[in-house]
Amino acid sequence: MAPRTDYYDVLGVSRDSDPQEIKRAYRKLARELHPDLNPDPVTQERFKDVTVAYEVLSDPEKRRMYDNGIDPMASGPGGAGGNFDFSDLMDAFFGPSAPRGPRGRTQRGQDALIRIQVDLDEVMFGSEREVTIDTAVACSACHGAGTAPDTEIVTCAMCKGRGEIQSVQRSFLGQVMTTRACPQCRGFGTTIPHPCPECSGDGRVRTRRTVGFKVPPGVETGTRIQLTGEGEVGAGAGPAGDLYVEIVEKPHPMFHRQGDDLHCTIALPMTAAALGAEIPLDTLDGQEVIQVPAGTQSGEEHVMRDRGVPRLRGAGRGSLTVHLQVQTPTELDAQQQDLLRQLAAVRGEEKPSATPMPQATGGFFSRIKDAFAGK
Ligand SMILES: [Zn+2]
Ligand SMILES: [Zn+2]
Repeated sequence: MAPRTDYYDVLGVSRDSDPQEIKRAYRKLARELHPDLNPDPVTQERFKDVTVAYEVLSDPEKRRMYDNGIDPMASGPGGAGGNFDFSDLMDAFFGPSAPRGPRGRTQRGQDALIRIQVDLDEVMFGSEREVTIDTAVACSACHGAGTAPDTEIVTCAMCKGRGEIQSVQRSFLGQVMTTRACPQCRGFGTTIPHPCPECSGDGRVRTRRTVGFKVPPGVETGTRIQLTGEGEVGAGAGPAGDLYVEIVEKPHPMFHRQGDDLHCTIALPMTAAALGAEIPLDTLDGQEVIQVPAGTQSGEEHVMRDRGVPRLRGAGRGSLTVHLQVQTPTELDAQQQDLLRQLAAVRGEEKPSATPMPQATGGFFSRIKDAFAGK
């Protein structure tokens, strides 16, 4: 995607401005930059930018899309860029200008959004997926023309093909000439006397289809994959909109994701923590052996570089941190109690006293605690 324009900057308004402020800002700029007053191409270009920004920010739907990181006016194949009507906006502010002529029957189709759940394995290594969607496609009976077989589109009798009709009204200001879209042909300048029976003249029909695509490694909840031209076909078999596939990550029973890093917690028997051990762990990359040194304390971590999630943008992977939680044995039988008492006696630990201990640091949970405590 092309680097996106900051529409708020273009209009000189803040991101939380209300519709009235946006309208005022646009009116002011539009008056300054109006092409009738400023024939130079640079100002005309700015006028266009300002108007596109207003088109997005004045429409609650488009503004929401934009705030969510999608540029509803992005140009390129299937983009909406070239397809909006400046004259509608001009009319809204400056009254109708010269006749515009009939509008085309072909329009760009809408974008579509679908959500899919992916598991951690797909996040790590990517996958090939398919979605089945209900969208409009070009009508195969009339190829988008909207006419029944062996019939034609005809020039509208009411507006003689102009697509609009003018009327003169009397008001307290005197005579007012208004131009409006022809009601007979809805502004097209043509009518379809015999609509295609398959699509009722719309040029497209709804159907279910299956679209295949790739999930790249490193996606996360909220990532949107843009499938250009896989959205709805427009009226009159116009260019299709785009399909956005939004990712929703399924939680994993073992691994917990934080950005590009993975974390897991494993239980370590007290004896293994004291004596040291080799513990096999099934990671998403296959089995790894964790070397637990003798004397490991509860809360210590074992960090494995490059075993985390691949970075969606940029190279490399995050890390996998294994948190070790030492388990105090419970439900000891008489023999086990006896062994532990012997050990305590040998270590002089039969009557432990209240020995002060520094706050545990470095562990994952203590770092979280520190972060909350503002350390
Ligand atoms: Zn048709
Ligand atoms: Zn007409």
